[in-house]
Parts: sequence; structure tokens; C-alpha cells
Amino acid sequence: MTSELRNCLACGRLFVGSAPVCPDCRRAEDAAFERVRAYLADNPAASVRETCEATEVALGLLHRFVEEGRLVLAASAGITCKVCGAPITTGRLCPDCQAELQRAQDKAAPSANRHSGGFYSRRSDHQ
Ligand SMILES: [Zn+2]
Ligand SMILES: [Zn+2]
Repeated sequence: MTSELRNCLACGRLFVGSAPVCPDCRRAEDAAFERVRAYLADNPAASVRETCEATEVALGLLHRFVEEGRLVLAASAGITCKVCGAPITTGRLCPDCQAELQRAQDKAAPSANRHSGGFYSRRSDHQ
């Protein structure tokens, strides 16, 4: 984690930190998140639009909660896979496209695995 000077994604103010939004907006987002979570606990089948209207949380913010995987909505809520358009409940992609993307990334950048923990061995190098 690096702290650096950046613009808040929500209000545009400069702040130092590693989060996408400034501490003030972070607090506001957390409060909004709690409202959404409480609403969905009572209305698990609510659509994105209904949730927006009931909680007065901005649509963009609601989508961000879902894309970050913080929120899981009903399959009928209106969230769709960014690639194929299939209904999903959380994240950005359906499981199929997620797996496809992962395969493509593994193929394109096999050395990226070196970042995850440092074990990187190829048996074929040591016959
Ligand atoms: Zn802010
Ligand atoms: Zn998909």
C-alpha cells in the first residue's frame, strides 16, 4: 500500500491516501452502503432502480458497490455482465467470462504469477 496525493473519485478534492475516495467521502459511502445493505436485507429481490430510489444512494455508487463485490443483488436486479450481458449478482463479469478473462490473462502474461508469493519454478529447467 502506498500513500500518495490523489484526487477523490467522488468529490475531486486532493487528499493523501491509498483509497479511491477521500476520508469524508469514505464515511459518506460507508453510511450509504449500510443503508443499501439494510434495505436489501428487507427487500432481497429489489432491483437496482428500486434500491436507488428507496435508499437515495446514487446509481453510480450503487454500481460501484456491486462491481467491488461488496454488494450481492438478486439475479433479477438488473446487473449484467460487462462482456456478454448475462444477468449477474455481483462483480463485473459472469463466472464464464471471468474464467475466460483469467485464462486469457494467464496466457498473455505467465510471468505475472511471480508477484504472488515468489514461488516460480519450472521443473523442465532441472532435468
Ligand atoms: Zn471526497
Ligand atoms: Zn459474461
